[in-house]
Amino acid sequence: MSFIKPGCFLRLLAFVVLASNGFARLSNKRKSYRGYEVLKFAVPSDLDQSFVDYLLNSEWVDVWKYPSLRSRHFDVMVNPQHKDEYKETLHKLGISYRVWISDVQNLIDENASPKQNRRRRNPRIMRLDRYNVYSKILRWMTTFSRTNNDVVSMHQVGTTSHGRRIWALKIGIRSNATKPVFWQDSLIHAREWITGATLLWVANRMVRQYRQGDPEVTTFLNEMDWMFLPVWNVDGYIYTWTTERMWRKSRSGGLGHCRGVDLNRNFDTPNLAEGKTSNFVCSGVYRGTRAFSESESNTVSAYLKTIPLAAFISLHSYAQYWLYPYGFQSNQSLDHFDLERVARKAVKAIYQVNKIKYKHGTVEALAYPVSGGSIDWAHISLCVKYAFGIELRDTGRYGFVLPDRYILPTAREYYQGMKVVAREILEADDLISESCKLN
Ligand SMILES: [Zn+2]
Repeated sequence: MSFIKPGCFLRLLAFVVLASNGFARLSNKRKSYRGYEVLKFAVPSDLDQSFVDYLLNSEWVDVWKYPSLRSRHFDVMVNPQHKDEYKETLHKLGISYRVWISDVQNLIDENASPKQNRRRRNPRIMRLDRYNVYSKILRWMTTFSRTNNDVVSMHQVGTTSHGRRIWALKIGIRSNATKPVFWQDSLIHAREWITGATLLWVANRMVRQYRQGDPEVTTFLNEMDWMFLPVWNVDGYIYTWTTERMWRKSRSGGLGHCRGVDLNRNFDTPNLAEGKTSNFVCSGVYRGTRAFSESESNTVSAYLKTIPLAAFISLHSYAQYWLYPYGFQSNQSLDHFDLERVARKAVKAIYQVNKIKYKHGTVEALAYPVSGGSIDWAHISLCVKYAFGIELRDTGRYGFVLPDRYILPTAREYYQGMKVVAREILEADDLISESCKLN
């Protein structure tokens, strides 16, 4: 006599597999990406949905990059156990592919492995041209704000689902007047390490240039307060160092792989189910049970509502895009003309640094349609005219495993783009998005 119906048995089996997966991770064993490949291929638009699901939504594949205006190709990481079967399916479907990265672990080992980081001479000294563990970043931020306490302070702007505090740096020349805040954040997606490294470099650079008497940076710090949130998704970022380098989401709830929420799908925008987002908890772009269901997005957004924003810039990787609203719809923002104009200037300024080309456009047109994103929310709900999402280097050669030798060039480029926005703001008549004025 059986106590378990077949359907129940399968669910129980799935639970045991996922649970054991979860327990394995609790032991803090670092996941190896040995033999993981990144394949590049285009999916025909008329492909049957079941094949699309197999190719893109299976648990053992990880979409690194979706098609965009620049490239029709997906970048997909496939695990070693399934890669032969996967390639065979591609072949049967008549889809040609290229092996873009033949062993992800090799890249991790060569470029940014924690082992390599430990070997460095003085582990207590943080170098801004290297990727750093969270504890080091936090220690650096604390020291940085203490040694520059006339212009720098540290602020808790939120809390993670695991109860960790989320810290931002505030940089500005003290004044009794309330100044507009130039907001920048990074690492809302845990594996996009280049974004946090870039932001820390920029924060440090601005203070150094202010100390050296740079007239433009002095004006910037006089006229505005600058907030830098280098690690938004703290739980996720720590997890990418201890356990799984390619983790993207938060670390809330669930078990094993089927946990966490894509925080940049969790903001309260219209059309929440539209575009590259999912209601499947195991998906890399899972949007959560409702808008602001996650502590990270909920607490930081509540903080953002309390400060007068001059600009809102979120850093991501990778693609080399300077993006602006909207993502959730193809209709243009009423500020489209100004957003486009400033974005064009920014990518031009970036190009002049190292001849690296960034493209500019709306999230929806240049990247892909997506709802629940932070820059749409800032533009719509906080009425911030200049809301940008930047996809930093590269275009896929290294993807998320961008070697640390690219940190300085990437940061220098972004810094010039950022300055374009700051100059615009200082000259602008007002900073409220046009659509907000209608209401
Ligand atoms: Zn991202």
